[in-house]
Amino acid sequence: MQDRLAKVRGEIAAGGLDGLLITENVNIRYLSGFTGSYAVLLITGDTAFLLTDTRYVEQADEEVPGFAVEMVEDGWITGVAGLVQRLDARRVGFEGTALNYEDWKSLREALPGRELVSVDDLVGRLRMVKDASEVAIMREAARIADLTCEHILRMLKPGLREREVAVEIDYFMRKQGADKEAFGTIVASGPRSALPHGEPTDRIISAGEFIVLDFGARKQGYHSDITRTVLLGRPKPRQQQVYNVVLEAQQRAIAAARPGLLGREVDAVAREYIAERSYGKHFGHGLGHGLGLAVHEGRILAKRSEIALEPGMVVTVEPGIYISGWGGVRIEDDVLVTESGHDVLTHSPRVLTIE
Ligand code: ZN
Ligand code: ZN
Repeated sequence: MQDRLAKVRGEIAAGGLDGLLITENVNIRYLSGFTGSYAVLLITGDTAFLLTDTRYVEQADEEVPGFAVEMVEDGWITGVAGLVQRLDARRVGFEGTALNYEDWKSLREALPGRELVSVDDLVGRLRMVKDASEVAIMREAARIADLTCEHILRMLKPGLREREVAVEIDYFMRKQGADKEAFGTIVASGPRSALPHGEPTDRIISAGEFIVLDFGARKQGYHSDITRTVLLGRPKPRQQQVYNVVLEAQQRAIAAARPGLLGREVDAVAREYIAERSYGKHFGHGLGHGLGLAVHEGRILAKRSEIALEPGMVVTVEPGIYISGWGGVRIEDDVLVTESGHDVLTHSPRVLTIE
């Protein structure tokens, strides 16, 4: 936590700021350890404040020993305005990507004569590279996803409804120690597998059709995110062929991942392979996103991503082929970029047919 604050203070100094206001929840957690839902941080060169209300004062005192906790009674904007005046901060940074327009207007009115400067998503950029303690938690979140995958593949059978499968995934992850599910679990079967984000419905699963399972566990705030496409019974040749193309594209992209490579270069490995097999127009989304305290931490692996991979980044690699009215396949794993290349955090088998 001290390392993270030191980095932020470096940015505060570099930007000629007297203080930095943090309003994005995951960034508040990242910098302070506070897990509640209502707080803001004000960080200066030598002090750090957490402002919260009566619901969270006690929790904040326990969770954020490095911060001076201030209770606000009349909303955080009034609290921040009072503090900025007390500290006589002239130039205050704020997260342009996290403050809504109404709050920004109110803040500006509450701080006459002070300069408000957007730092965009400064903390989000720091969060892209994980430290060892974060990687350890993410390995645990990935392990829970793998255990859940194993469990669900054993229980899948024709006649189950998508919704029943989704509920079992969520229940099992929590039993394995997840805080909760990382996002709304996706179970999409038959023609619905062509929907990249198919919400589970009452549709009954049959043999011989694709079933896309996309889910993840949240553990101590960090996420895993895995997709497997499976089929009960015997696949038709075209089903197996499409599956093989997606799997090969994914494996090639993972094999390429290493520090220094640009996000678009990794994306191109999968995209070009899928295009060569003439499914290019059926792969519309980016290859993968950053993963951490948020499920989507930037489109790191995408067609136009100029982000260079660095050791400590965790990204998903998730190519897919979606054919409207017929079905779709996606395979997704979580990949840590290391000094020497990469380390795949999710290990569930990548096979189409399950008995
Ligand atoms: Zn996913
Ligand atoms: Zn994903």
